[in-house]
Amino acid sequence: MPRSRIPKGRVPAVLIRLGIAVVIALISIVGYFGAGSANPVTGQTQRVAMSVEQEIALGLAALPRMAAQYGGEDRDQRDQQLVDRVGETLVRAIDSPTPWRFEFHLLADPQTINAFALPGGQVFITRALFDRLQTEGQLAGVLGHEVGHVIERHGAQRMAKQKLAQGLVGAAGVAGDGRSAAQMAAAVGNLVNMSYGRGDELESDEWGVALMVNAGYDPRAMIVVMEILRDAGGGGGKAEFFSTHPDPENRIGKIEDAIGQHYPNGVPDGLVP
Ligand SMILES: [Zn+2]
Repeated sequence: MPRSRIPKGRVPAVLIRLGIAVVIALISIVGYFGAGSANPVTGQTQRVAMSVEQEIALGLAALPRMAAQYGGEDRDQRDQQLVDRVGETLVRAIDSPTPWRFEFHLLADPQTINAFALPGGQVFITRALFDRLQTEGQLAGVLGHEVGHVIERHGAQRMAKQKLAQGLVGAAGVAGDGRSAAQMAAAVGNLVNMSYGRGDELESDEWGVALMVNAGYDPRAMIVVMEILRDAGGGGGKAEFFSTHPDPENRIGKIEDAIGQHYPNGVPDGLVP
């Protein structure tokens, strides 16, 4: 028997490891690309890691920890009610019935300027951002953007991508050894942990504008929100918003385009500022 031939029944360990890695990678890729589902509102087929019911359950499960991270629910009932009312007005302005359970929360954090949404409909704005807003329309701009993330299921999509990444990272860990595997894991992890990405943010801005228009708010308030965020970024405020959202300056042009599509002859008078 020639020496180079592998004895029957004995496959080199490196090939076994490589085989396992390929299988893990294939499972995660098939899992990612195989599971498409139609969005209940937009009708688009999306890669999401979970059902709407699971999204809602996950959002509710994460709610207490998320709120605690930003100082808990704000105690000012009047402001809290304003956030609720504007949020619910926007939800009613969605053209088709939605399966999500929307709830709006003003969180007490006075320093961190941010707003975010969990899958399923839990929407948050911090006291620090709330206090920088001057009109109800601006609040509608912030909340409408977050409602857009929920409708487009960006969180569930991101989690589907992370599941893919986890599989690939696992595969890297099995196939490689030591540092190279860790580096590959870090690279893949970074790739998908970069918040929602520019496309998702612009999509949510478009939803924000659309819902403001449907609800009777002046959508130009959304542009003012971008200016407020831009100015906050330069000041002493801790604008966490910037680590998860594209530069407000770059978003203003797109928002103006969206407003032009809703109002080709100019924004009419009498809208809620
Ligand atoms: Zn966003």
